Amino acid sequence: MTLRERIGVVKMGSDPAILNGMGIWERLKNRLGAKSPAFAPVPEELWLRILLQHRIFSGLVDVDKALLRDLSARFLATKKFLPVGGASASQELMLAVATQACLPLLGLDLRWYRDFTTIYLTPQAYTVTQTVEAKGGIIHEYEDEFAGEAFALGPVALSIPDIHASGRGDGYNVVIHEMAHKLDGLDGAYDGCPPLHQGMDGCAWTKEFSLAFEDFRKNAARAGRRKGRVSIDVYGAEGPDEFFAICCEYFWEMPRVLLKEYPGVYEQLALFFRRDPAAWQR
Ligand SMILES: [Zn+2]
Repeated sequence: MTLRERIGVVKMGSDPAILNGMGIWERLKNRLGAKSPAFAPVPEELWLRILLQHRIFSGLVDVDKALLRDLSARFLATKKFLPVGGASASQELMLAVATQACLPLLGLDLRWYRDFTTIYLTPQAYTVTQTVEAKGGIIHEYEDEFAGEAFALGPVALSIPDIHASGRGDGYNVVIHEMAHKLDGLDGAYDGCPPLHQGMDGCAWTKEFSLAFEDFRKNAARAGRRKGRVSIDVYGAEGPDEFFAICCEYFWEMPRVLLKEYPGVYEQLALFFRRDPAAWQR
């Protein structure tokens, strides 16, 4: 069975509307629910500009473009943007966040982002003092730079320069990264495994991600000693949660790189997101 057929099987298994032969708009209305708040459509000129600026949208088929535009408008109507530290938020910036946040929702829906409302926008990446306990109970402090952050059951923070650097098709995407943490933590555990759909195999997910993570950690360590090469951001070696978030970035930004490096992980993500971006023409 091909990946496309398998995505179809999982999708049909968990979305009975498809079995009833409903059209895309009926399914969309059904999925979003009649009680969604009123929302303003995305203005045409702004929409076209956002599509042009972000290479990751260039492979979308028309139906997915329409779905993304609708999801983004609903995202803007239900989330609150709070610029801090002298930052300001233009309509274009907020739409850039909304569209990239909603790209992973094309095969899901907005309920996957139900545990947060507020998005803080910071004028630049910021440093946070972290503590770590070493052997013997000695506490070490170090400064960590954050381009964004997803707080458990709370808001998301995104640095504006990093938002601007996202969506170029080069593998880096702070919006998708933080949203991936939100998807991951929806079951209460930030462990690199979001709640899976009916019909997906949890054992297959764990096996593929564990094998890939171990391999990736080894390669990242070798690259750190200048003895190896990694084509995926080594930040993914920090832990299974970061590896999942980084793989999500590559899935949407450089899907063919992820497919080549870790085909088993790519397949699990394709089943979860119900899309196959490596097959898109960009
Ligand atoms: Zn992260």
